[in-house]
Amino acid sequence: MRLVLVGPPGAGKGTQAQFIAEHVGVPKISTGDIFRANVSEGTPLGLEAKEYMDRGDLVPDEVTIDMVRNRLLEKDAVGGFLLDGFPRTVPQAETLDDILRESADSKLDVVLELVVDNEEVVRRLSGRRTCRTCNHIWHVDFDPPQQDGICDLDGGELFQRDDDKPATIENRLEVYDEQTAPLIAYYAGRGVLVGIDATGPVDDVTLRAIDALRPYSAAER
Ligand code: ADP
Ligand code: AMP
Repeated sequence: MRLVLVGPPGAGKGTQAQFIAEHVGVPKISTGDIFRANVSEGTPLGLEAKEYMDRGDLVPDEVTIDMVRNRLLEKDAVGGFLLDGFPRTVPQAETLDDILRESADSKLDVVLELVVDNEEVVRRLSGRRTCRTCNHIWHVDFDPPQQDGICDLDGGELFQRDDDKPATIENRLEVYDEQTAPLIAYYAGRGVLVGIDATGPVDDVTLRAIDALRPYSAAER
């Protein structure tokens, strides 16, 4: 399955991506995780991306598209993938269509939209904590680790992302409305968009997602 997750920052894409990718049996590709890994390794790509990420702006399309093109050409992604955080602009979506057509004569099967209102998104982003070693996502109130600041899964240190500070959150929501929300109409027009209510407990959202994706799985087609 070739699957894209869309929704505002804080909608739960990263949280759900892990479960859905495992369920569907495809690799999870998160552009935010790839950028953050490059920032912490101090690569040229990371240095370039950091100034945009710190402001809550999008990294320019040329840079992002090249990075995703290279990742999609890796062997594990040839038969299917779950994209989390890409595309985020209509030009990125158009280029993704081109990459799939050229590289594998294929196209996206489905775009899953996680629907959550802005108030909930702000609550989620303000309390988000991420494990420095395994990238697992926690929340101080909604999904707290057993010990403050320590990941239950691997004992890694939890940190608050710089772009989860109030001023940056506000900018990211504006950037979403202006640059990413038009993708909803773009994909609806292609007949591949499915939306689910992404409020309520994480497990309930996962079940809704799996249910919504069932018609698109190979076994059902
Ligand atoms: P995104 O990848 O869309 O930016 P995340 O998956 O990182 O969003 O989730 C943002 C925050 O919200 C995290 O702290 C996560 O633990 C929390 N979260 C995710 N899903 C839910 C949910 N269904 N209910 C409450 N909190 C959630
Ligand atoms: P995320 O982890 O998805 O919230 O992404 C964190 C940040 O990485 C974003 O605010 C952007 O600065 C950058 N980023 C991630 N994905 C993209 C993308 N597809 N296009 C441009 N910038 C991106």
